[in-house]
Amino acid sequence: MNETQDEERIGQRRCIFCGAKPLTKEHMLPKWLRDLLGSNQLMHRHGVEGPEETYERSEWDATPASQTLKLLCSDCNNNWGGSIEAAAKPILLAMIRGEETRLSREEQAVVSLWMAKTMMVFDRSHPRTSVIPDDDLRHARANNEPPPTAVGWLSNYSGEKYVAVHVSSASPYAIPGENKSDPGWVSSLVVESLMMQMVKRPGLLDDAPRFFDETGDLNVQVWPPTDDYIVWPPTRAKDDGFVEAVSFPTGEASR
Ligand SMILES: [Zn+2]
Repeated sequence: MNETQDEERIGQRRCIFCGAKPLTKEHMLPKWLRDLLGSNQLMHRHGVEGPEETYERSEWDATPASQTLKLLCSDCNNNWGGSIEAAAKPILLAMIRGEETRLSREEQAVVSLWMAKTMMVFDRSHPRTSVIPDDDLRHARANNEPPPTAVGWLSNYSGEKYVAVHVSSASPYAIPGENKSDPGWVSSLVVESLMMQMVKRPGLLDDAPRFFDETGDLNVQVWPPTDDYIVWPPTRAKDDGFVEAVSFPTGEASR
């Protein structure tokens, strides 16, 4: 595809969150986070697991998270996105620095929306392999919250492999025979000592704590908020093995 055709294709695309046109340029990560991470660390890893039962996985070093994209309309980028960044930045910064942080119910919701929106933009930066369905993006935009049946956790990351990583996959969290057009997804985002994970799968809430955190000392749940206050970090830190176990539950990620 030459550049003119590419521009035409982009000209016909609609905002991933609200469906409006035209699109404006935005950064994958906000300026405050790019400044914090530094330009040489802004790679992200992207991985996708294939359709149910095949579990074919592809994973690659994706384009730097410092790149600009054209996925959002000006309203979603500047107004909606801007207000999410302004609300989430002070809470996130403390945890990224590793400071013990107490989050109110409202702050848990702020962080959860930031997490969902950022994961969705990362996911759609790979349009051919994205796993998060349109309905989930529309829900986030319209309701200012993660999609229905999504669960979000914060963890303390002690590994060395991932910086500003996003991995997403669909099939391992699908329930065989259930809604195949909405198989569920998992996404992980790591920024220094803060790890954020979100999993969407119908029915997950019923067995989520047992499923992901048998001893209850690895994750603090922020979505849906269950306690008036939660304290980050949890007792135990997660290393690279944990990132891969949750993000790629069918086997160690190949490099
Ligand atoms: Zn929009």
